[in-house]
Amino acid sequence: MLVFNEFGSKRNDKNGKCANCNRYNTSSAWCQTCDPQKTALGWTSGNKNIDDCIKELQLNATNYEDVIEWIPFNRLDNIQKIGEEFLAVWLDGVRLKQYIKEPTQSRNPSCKEKLKILHESKNLLEVLCKFKDLLVQSKDSSPKFYELSQDSSPKVYGLTQNTSTDEYMLVFDFQRYAHCGKCANCNRYNTNLAWCQSCDPQKTTQEWTSGNKDVDNCIKEFQLKSTSYEDVIDWIPFNRLNNVQKIGEGGFGSVFSATWLDGKRTVSNVAGEFIQSRTPTCIVALKTLPGSQENFLREFKSYTEFRLMGSNLEVYGLTQDTTNNEYLMVFQYANKGSLHTFLLSNFRELNWKSKLNQLFDISQNLTKIHNAGYVHRDFHSGNILQNQYINGNLLSYIADLGLSRKKDESDLEDSIYGVLPYFAPEVLYKRPYTIAADVYSFGIIMTELSTGRPPHYDIKYDEGLAIRICNGLRPEFAKGTPECYIKLANECMDANPSNRPSASNIYDELFRWNNIVRDGVAKDRDELAILKAFQSADAIIPKLSTKLSNCPKDKLTSKLLNFKNLSEPVNSSLSSISASKTIDFVDIPTDL
Ligand SMILES: [Zn+2]
Ligand SMILES: [Zn+2]
Repeated sequence: MLVFNEFGSKRNDKNGKCANCNRYNTSSAWCQTCDPQKTALGWTSGNKNIDDCIKELQLNATNYEDVIEWIPFNRLDNIQKIGEEFLAVWLDGVRLKQYIKEPTQSRNPSCKEKLKILHESKNLLEVLCKFKDLLVQSKDSSPKFYELSQDSSPKVYGLTQNTSTDEYMLVFDFQRYAHCGKCANCNRYNTNLAWCQSCDPQKTTQEWTSGNKDVDNCIKEFQLKSTSYEDVIDWIPFNRLNNVQKIGEGGFGSVFSATWLDGKRTVSNVAGEFIQSRTPTCIVALKTLPGSQENFLREFKSYTEFRLMGSNLEVYGLTQDTTNNEYLMVFQYANKGSLHTFLLSNFRELNWKSKLNQLFDISQNLTKIHNAGYVHRDFHSGNILQNQYINGNLLSYIADLGLSRKKDESDLEDSIYGVLPYFAPEVLYKRPYTIAADVYSFGIIMTELSTGRPPHYDIKYDEGLAIRICNGLRPEFAKGTPECYIKLANECMDANPSNRPSASNIYDELFRWNNIVRDGVAKDRDELAILKAFQSADAIIPKLSTKLSNCPKDKLTSKLLNFKNLSEPVNSSLSSISASKTIDFVDIPTDL
């Protein structure tokens, strides 16, 4: 009898031998004759339609690693909801070929994979339709070099059913990119440079302990959320920090500089391959996080959450001073200090291009804070830090998030705390602090960049000033400040919070101005007017007085503010946009 050698042309000694029929496999570790049947046996989802659908897919599979499975829910562990999706540890793990003499079927147990609910209704046909659609989309999911594939979906592993809700869920992979290199653990392409989202976060949490369970849990929670190697925060033993020196004292604690012996996490490229590494020893800033344990972890959490959402301020981790047991946050050292001190010493050298660029950074940070559902509550130029990079670029970022709260968190106390002139009049008048109040502070910072002076520098920061602010007093602008700039700042400082633009509106506007002024190119009349306005404003700067005396440091120290004799906030009748007051530069008296 003649036996037809099924798939004969595909059989190849490089694929290994099939243990069942003893012929060479048709693809690596996979015999098209024997394996599909084997795969389709020995399991059931408990539902015939689902079984039929998956078995049909299994019988047509041509490659071991592409087999779609029914995944029992109890094989998924530690399920966490992240936005609309879930993460889970798949105890059996993805199918992975191993090369032991010849290609062998294997699995990579306990990697994290993604889950998502396939339907709202319990209509099974809808579930299966959606499932098949997603399979088609992910069919061409092999990562393409350097392509941030928008069109191909991540690889699908199978289907599961949540046994407590009966919901069907898709089990699928993270988006992976060939140019990010391969994960040594699961042999898949990485999800980010030198970073595999399935394997690296867990590995990171297993390498250390602070000795305090709450601190460990807090840091580990963030480590598990990290999506890139460079964003991982660390527990930093105090003896890895050298040369600790006090550099500042804020309303809420002290700031130090120190040398971090291990250096920051960085991805380096060694002979074309991305690898996890560390920068050489570097200077970092340390900040005390006083208060009860719950409070200091709250501030640390705010900073770290912003970091993971893309804030410019790099947070590296947490340490504990072994001499007094105080916990300190370790973060980016701002080599140019705060915007406040920067303006006092560098205002003359600052042109509008650079001012717009800084305001653009700040508005971007503020937008991120608001988008994350937070209100800053203590937003002033002393809380904006500046770092100059080797290439000369200056980056501004918002710091001191100690007071920031979730928008829906109610005020814990009646009093407000901060620097008086940055507070919106409605806040001084005991109305709730909203994101619009942060926008008011942004308007004040805009006046500061115009004049180089702290707001109302010549007035005592007391109840008298609070009364005048409620009656419409606003800081002045320097002579020659472009009208469009004054208009935007005045909108931010409107007495009525609902008339103020949102942080993202401000960001959009500054993005536009910044591009026009940076490139010096105008596409239409409107842009030309903007370009000319900022260029002529630049021309005035050298004519301004060169002497700017020092402003006492405590002017920007946050203080407890509590006023009783204020009236309903109004805009000043004089401060319409065209009549905005501008000032000529004169020397500021030394003693304020
Ligand atoms: Zn076979
Ligand atoms: Zn991996």
